[in-house]
Amino acid sequence: MSAQSLPAEDLRYVVCPVCRQQLVRLGDVISCKGCGRRYPVVDDIPVLLADRAL
Ligand SMILES: [Zn+2]
Repeated sequence: MSAQSLPAEDLRYVVCPVCRQQLVRLGDVISCKGCGRRYPVVDDIPVLLADRAL
């Protein structure tokens, strides 16, 4: 795990890259409270990229 990695549980300072709203973890995905996009969690690291949204 590199210094750049982001534990999936630590979402307090992370926002949706699309709408800047809060994110919540739902099992194996990260869900946005604003726009409803869901982002995958790969190796326990959230992939918060708009073009990777589920
Ligand atoms: Zn959003």
